[in-house]
Amino acid sequence: MADPILQVRDLHTHFFADEGVVRAVDGVSFDLFPGRTLGIVGESGCGKSVTARSILRIVERPGRIVSGEILLRRQTGAVVDVARLPVDGPEVRAIRGGDIGLVFQEPMSALSAFHTIGNQLIEAVRLHARLNRKRARERAIELLAMAGIPRPADRIDAYSFELSGGLRQRVMIALALAGEPRVLIADEPTTALDVTTQAQILTLMRRLQQQRDLAVILITHDMGVIAEMADDVVVMYLGKEVEKGPVDAIFHAPRHPYTRSLLRSIPSVLARPRSRLATLSGSIPHPFARPGGCPFHPRCPDKLTGLCDTTVPAEVVIGEDHATACHLYTTQDAKVPA
Ligand code: SF4
Repeated sequence: MADPILQVRDLHTHFFADEGVVRAVDGVSFDLFPGRTLGIVGESGCGKSVTARSILRIVERPGRIVSGEILLRRQTGAVVDVARLPVDGPEVRAIRGGDIGLVFQEPMSALSAFHTIGNQLIEAVRLHARLNRKRARERAIELLAMAGIPRPADRIDAYSFELSGGLRQRVMIALALAGEPRVLIADEPTTALDVTTQAQILTLMRRLQQQRDLAVILITHDMGVIAEMADDVVVMYLGKEVEKGPVDAIFHAPRHPYTRSLLRSIPSVLARPRSRLATLSGSIPHPFARPGGCPFHPRCPDKLTGLCDTTVPAEVVIGEDHATACHLYTTQDAKVPA
């Protein structure tokens, strides 16, 4: 396998509010490789989007990265720690949209309603390449065609509100690729779309990834999307990674009780008619009332009372590239729960 293009090491991003500190990201590490998709999955509030925003240095105040490394191999070959760069400095601005492209969940709010999609694309193209306006417009049309927009030469002068949700998301993908990035971060890119359009967008992303050898970070709450798209998976809960590994290991030999719960909540075509979907008991704790010990213990069906509620589990390697943070795999008599 090629060298990783991005290495995140023990990242911590916290929000400092009057009421207390929210540890939105509280220890996340992973490697991202060219041509592969890393899925980051968990319920809303687990820190997956803040992880992405930390990599792009767009965490809003009162949040900030407090520790950890974000090592990016840039197009020049130099490795920089993005976490240490000045947040509004020229290098971060060049990385954002240049080395790393971003696709948001809701293109309607990410795209300007006051400028045509063409003008937004031309501006993005010229931010990262020295092209005159005519050549940049041609490049913008190429990008729209590449993103599967029919009649791109006509559509380039449309406004975002004139397009369907699926076309708007294709425009977002064209915008994200305008700077020729080698890393693409897609934050819930299909959540707002109907099932058919969702499948089309995922197919498009896979095709573009193969054509460009893109390294993709796909953020989602949907294990079905992970199964479809990811090569490697990080499962997050309350800011922590609780399990990570190749997608086959996560789906066929999940270890952490939270991963197992997420998998049980996927609808199956083999389920008996009218059978109930498994749901996770309890809800995510309030950010200011974070439980001690394992953060999942108030909801965990397998918790070891006296241990799980007092001691934070360390991450344990349990297979090739497969690790989990759970006391079931550190105690002598540990058994994989049925
Ligand atoms: Fe459950 Fe304990 Fe494992 Fe946490 S450490 S997931 S509470 S068994």
